[in-house]
Amino acid sequence: MTLPEWSEAAAAGFANRHSLRPPLSPELLVGVIERHHRVCLDPTLIEDGRLDLDGDGWRVSVNPRRPRSRQTFTLAHEIAHLLLATHGVTQDDEELWCNDFAAELLMPRSLVERICRPYFEDIGQLRHLSHAAGVSMSAALIRVRNLCEWRSGLLTFEFLKQERRWIISGITAFPSNLKNRIFTSDSCGEVLQRSSTLRIARLPMTIGARPVSVRVQLSGDGSRRFALVSPSEISKVAAQPNSNYGRPIAPG
Ligand SMILES: [Zn+2]
Repeated sequence: MTLPEWSEAAAAGFANRHSLRPPLSPELLVGVIERHHRVCLDPTLIEDGRLDLDGDGWRVSVNPRRPRSRQTFTLAHEIAHLLLATHGVTQDDEELWCNDFAAELLMPRSLVERICRPYFEDIGQLRHLSHAAGVSMSAALIRVRNLCEWRSGLLTFEFLKQERRWIISGITAFPSNLKNRIFTSDSCGEVLQRSSTLRIARLPMTIGARPVSVRVQLSGDGSRRFALVSPSEISKVAAQPNSNYGRPIAPG
């Protein structure tokens, strides 16, 4: 049997052969790999995962200290390397091929299109996909942007219990120049706290030292919140000059 060149077809074929349906878990993928190869949970790994020759077979190592959704993606990615290696196939962009394979295995195109195609830029549907596929909101958004032409970005917030404040713990699909300039402001927390009743909100944030109000779709649970930010809001925010530059630091 030959391996299709196209990663999506290869992933769909692999899922069929092993009756894999989302949501996938690390245990499920470890079980599939262990039919023919070894899996080693190695907390000392610096990287998320790796593939090594092991006697006359292969050994997949994965770092169990990473979040479960990350481990699932890593195992799917290493399965792609394994398939290429056992088929003696080389790909020009092997890392990219393996990432595409993993994305299709975890979030099949048909599932993504069914959930997110009819509802444009909707955080409820993004959440639905993230649950259905067992992946992070950030991974789900990247997939939906690729398959359904969504253009929104996503902010992830985390509540720090000891400091009793919200911080931004993740920025997905924002221009790179914003990554170290966008922060929560004091009143941001009040809005995030109420997000179980608020769906559309204006989030008070700061860009550099300048206050901005960003219109977002909110969703969340426990100590995490997600804000879907439309492209027009992102460009509005990106246009803010960084007023931190050249600013004297106040003494004391
Ligand atoms: Zn790789």
